[in-house]
This record gives sequence, structure tokens and C-alpha cells, in this order.
Amino acid sequence: MRFEVTILGSNSATPLFGRHHTAQILNCNEIISLIDCGEGTQLQLQRYGIKVNRIKYIFISHLHGDHYLGLVGLISSMHLNGRKEDLHIFGPEGLKEIIDLQLRYSETSLRYQLHVQMTSPHTTETILSDSNFDVMTFPLSHRISCTGFLFREKQRLPRINKELIASLDIPTPYYPLLKRGIDYTDNEGNIYKAADLTTPAPVPRSYAFCSDTVNIKSYWPYIEKVDLLYHEATFLHEMLDRAVETFHTTSLEAAEIAKAVGAKKLLIGHFSARYKDLQPLLAESRSVFPNTELALEGETFEI
Ligand SMILES: [Zn+2]
Ligand SMILES: [Zn+2]
Repeated sequence: MRFEVTILGSNSATPLFGRHHTAQILNCNEIISLIDCGEGTQLQLQRYGIKVNRIKYIFISHLHGDHYLGLVGLISSMHLNGRKEDLHIFGPEGLKEIIDLQLRYSETSLRYQLHVQMTSPHTTETILSDSNFDVMTFPLSHRISCTGFLFREKQRLPRINKELIASLDIPTPYYPLLKRGIDYTDNEGNIYKAADLTTPAPVPRSYAFCSDTVNIKSYWPYIEKVDLLYHEATFLHEMLDRAVETFHTTSLEAAEIAKAVGAKKLLIGHFSARYKDLQPLLAESRSVFPNTELALEGETFEI
């Protein structure tokens, strides 16, 4: 099953050096989610060949412009492109008001249903349960309310071992029961154990998106043992004072967090516009957590 993230932008504050504001596409078994929607996101979607109307869910971490200023433009384009399917947006308090205001003054009546659900900056909650995955929010610590998102695949049922079962006379309507762990008994009273005829499903994978935050431990429990951790790394550690002052994290800290929570892989992003060359940020992270990559535009990371 496909579970991968594509980076559309990863710069902080201002777009520079050809780098765009934060936006990512998560593909979970062909269900497409957009995470954050900085300015220019719809052009980035075109550039990387992602069809706008395939987006089913949008998750906005907070209301700093570099994370959502592309949203109303995207909503409008979906309308102009004749979208019919519902669109579900999850974001902080105030987001619905901002969208409604812009639509009201442009006298736009959308051709599709828009659902905007408010996230809480104070508690963790499961905000979505789709057929293949769940989404949980958790509070981050930033200058304004900000939430992280944890995407986790649902536990799937065991698979039928086709080679083994082919030699047995078990009617196919019983296969779903075997998957659920129910043994099969034939007319002669022979018992076929479900555990012997199935193989366990893979362990569900997870992706954590930690948008803007200062380095505090309060959110670490929510990202424990995550398969892929995206964490902001706005500055090099020599600028720690600036990072703390602006509620951001350094590339060294992001690596220390990944190590502390036992993440399998780290993706750093939200780069300050002061860095034309990102290699020093990568090197600093890798000095603590070798399995680190830069969240570069156009790159896709399998989870
Ligand atoms: Zn930001
Ligand atoms: Zn911010």
C-alpha cells in the first residue's frame, strides 16, 4: 500500500532561492492529503503533476502566512475547475472566518461542499478516521497556536496464505472469518486454525508533521517511534538564541528530538531564508541523527 510524502515547499518566512513556503502532499493508498498550504502551493502542485481535485483533505498547522496563504487561491481554483466532491479542511480557530470572509467579498458561492473543522491547540485529539488511516493532532509550542499532525495507517487484517489454503477444502466465504481469527471446522469436525492459514499484516506505518515549534518535550510522547518525522529546523545551532526567541528549532535540536523519540528517519525543513546552502543544516543534523534528509521540493519520501 502506498504511503509517501512529497515536498512542495519548505522555506520559512519568505520564499527565496527558488524555495517555496511549506506544503506537502501525503498519499495514503491513493487518498491525497495536503499538509499546510503556503503561497504558491497550487503552482507547485501543477509543477509536480498533482491534480488539485484529487486532494480530499487539507491540514493547516497554524495561521502564520507561510503555512496557509495559498489556501483561498486553491479553494477558488477547485471551484473554477468544477470540483464536485466535498473538501475537508482541518485548521486552527479563525481559519473558517478568514475563508468565509474572502468568499463573501468576492461573492463566490462554491460549487462543492467545504467542511472546515477546528483543531485544538491545547489537547491531542483524533480528528479523522479514513478507511486506511487515522489523523491525530498534538499541541506544539509556537508564538501563536500551532498543532502537529500524526498520520497513522490502520492496522490491517492478516492475509490468507493462498498456497496453504489451496490444498484444503475450505469454502471461500469463510476466508474473511479466518482473517478475523475465527477457526474453520469442517463437517467431519476437523479444525483448521486461522493462525496457521494466515500471515500477519505489516505493522502500521506513521508520519509525524511537526511544523513551527520551539524545542520542548511536551509533544515528544505523540511522535514516539514514528517511521518518518518531519521536523522544522529553521536555524543552525549557532543561532539557538534566535531560535528560542522566535519559537523555532535548530537542525541540531531536530536531530536530538528524532533520536530521543526513536524515530526511524528524520526530514528537516522550514529553512530560514538566510541559508542559500542547506548542506550545513543537513550535516549538523546528521552529526546526531545520521538518517536525516532535507525536505527538498519535488522529492518524494516513502514511509
Ligand atoms: Zn513558518
Ligand atoms: Zn510560524
